[in-house]
Amino acid sequence: MEGTMKVAVMTGPLQMEWEERPIPQPKRGELQIKLEYVGVCGSDLHFYSEGRLANWVPDGPLVLGHEPGGVVTAIGEGVTGFMVGDRVALEPGVPCGHCEDCLKGHYNLCKEVKFMAIPKEKDGVFSEYCTHSASMTFKLPDHVSTLEGALMEPLAVGMHACELSNAKLGETAVVLGAGCIGLVTLMSLKARGVSEIYVADILDKRLSKAKELGASRVFNSKTENIEEFVKTLPGGGVDQVYECAGNRITTLQTCRLIKRAGKVTLVGVSPEPVLELDIATLNAMEGTIYSVYRYRNLYPAAISAVSNGLIPLKAIVSHTYDFKDVIKGVDYNLNHKDDVIKAVIKM
Ligand SMILES: [Zn+2]
Ligand SMILES: [Zn+2]
Repeated sequence: MEGTMKVAVMTGPLQMEWEERPIPQPKRGELQIKLEYVGVCGSDLHFYSEGRLANWVPDGPLVLGHEPGGVVTAIGEGVTGFMVGDRVALEPGVPCGHCEDCLKGHYNLCKEVKFMAIPKEKDGVFSEYCTHSASMTFKLPDHVSTLEGALMEPLAVGMHACELSNAKLGETAVVLGAGCIGLVTLMSLKARGVSEIYVADILDKRLSKAKELGASRVFNSKTENIEEFVKTLPGGGVDQVYECAGNRITTLQTCRLIKRAGKVTLVGVSPEPVLELDIATLNAMEGTIYSVYRYRNLYPAAISAVSNGLIPLKAIVSHTYDFKDVIKGVDYNLNHKDDVIKAVIKM
């Protein structure tokens, strides 16, 4: 496809404007994709509302959106294995492929990665078309929708957390935070056969979703104390704790929830850089801490898990906005966190 396309560009904090840009043409090794669904992520909201995320500060206009599903519309030179019309999920980070981190297999840590919607790396996909490396594009089976394709990105985060901590059949787990990342972690744990999963949050709508998705019990932390509850479990805690809220209070709770030799996995991204952990309790339990940065090598497994019905991925979507309403949608998301669990933009 050639011509121009509509792009929603963030031009400053709480500012998004429409632009008409040329439709990008695929270079060697790339595909051109017409986007069908793009998820709205917490990191998009941080950039939009606070003008930064962790150490990333946009120094000019930035297109948000890094959770894309779409259809191949053109194929660059040297690409094999794709046809125009293929429905695909795009893994948003394209690593360099030849640095030490890439060669060791943890390409998510590549310093030369070009990740969508990250300043100085790559624009995001709140646009009608994009081009993307074929090596980071994954075909969807017939009965997996491009909406689900868009949601593979957050799912991969939850799956990566469960891989690192090696959550196993029959284990027990606590998930702190039942937003999108908490829920995909819950679904990944269920799919791995973790038998008892307890979920805490302060928003009832998210907790009922967690219950619907198979949480053994949910706790509203405003009125219920999950720390007291886990002390009544065998071993006085759980095997696995996942911090998915990126929050000072829940981060401090993590080490107090594991049983002996338990594992704490920090999944949530906090806007505050320095948070406390209860190290005395961690030591007494000989606990292990894992940190999670995005994901690696998981799109094929995520697509297969959704395709085979192991993970009911689209159940997390609470709001869908048309692309023409993207600015309104992002604003609503920002101001109604109690109502929005996961929003997607229909392109
Ligand atoms: Zn995301
Ligand atoms: Zn690299």
